[in-house]
Amino acid sequence: MLLLANRLMHAQEINTEILIGMDNSRIVSDTILLEKKTYSAFIKMKDAAEKDGIIIKLVSGFRDFYRQQIIWNNKYKKFTDEFSLDGPTAIKEIIRFSTIPGTSRHHWGTEIDIIDKNFENEKDLLISKKYEDGGIFNSLKKWMDKNSKRFGFYIVYDDDSDRPGFEYEPWHYTYKPVSDLYQREFLKLNLKSIISKTKVEGKEFINDEFIKKYIDENIMGISSHLK
Ligand SMILES: [Zn+2]
Repeated sequence: MLLLANRLMHAQEINTEILIGMDNSRIVSDTILLEKKTYSAFIKMKDAAEKDGIIIKLVSGFRDFYRQQIIWNNKYKKFTDEFSLDGPTAIKEIIRFSTIPGTSRHHWGTEIDIIDKNFENEKDLLISKKYEDGGIFNSLKKWMDKNSKRFGFYIVYDDDSDRPGFEYEPWHYTYKPVSDLYQREFLKLNLKSIISKTKVEGKEFINDEFIKKYIDENIMGISSHLK
């Protein structure tokens, strides 16, 4: 009973603003920004990796709504102005790699994009090939494959060819003990209504039909371990 009450309380604390990246009160700041429990787990994992000679560097943790909106709007303008795509086609192109503002898992502070610090000065870091055999981040990837779950971290956009949605991201992990709850609460939101009140470019094309497909394919286009 106490456990249930505890869980309900947690769910209530996670309001819409937290879920869409407009409230950062649960984020701790060091040089990196992460949700409190995610931060502690990340530090534990990082220390363990270091003992095995792998230096994990976080390149992206918490990202707020407004940052995602800048990324989105820049891409939207580029695709519609420079490439003359119509709105719906531009959106289709953007969501291969980027989320609609308000819908990024990075808004939760539970997600980490990581590289091997030894190669931090290379350019174009987040390329999936670099994490595979022969790539500069392969030792990091192998260490994570073997150890990350022990610390609560799971790959989100895996290389399962049946998985729809975003492309394979071997650098992106979620802290499942917290993000499971966020994910459950997030799925209860009325995204169309939320997005319609923002300054997101192309929001007029984000209708009910689009949102349903986006949730099925992109939001839920995640590793089967996370469903
Ligand atoms: Zn990411």
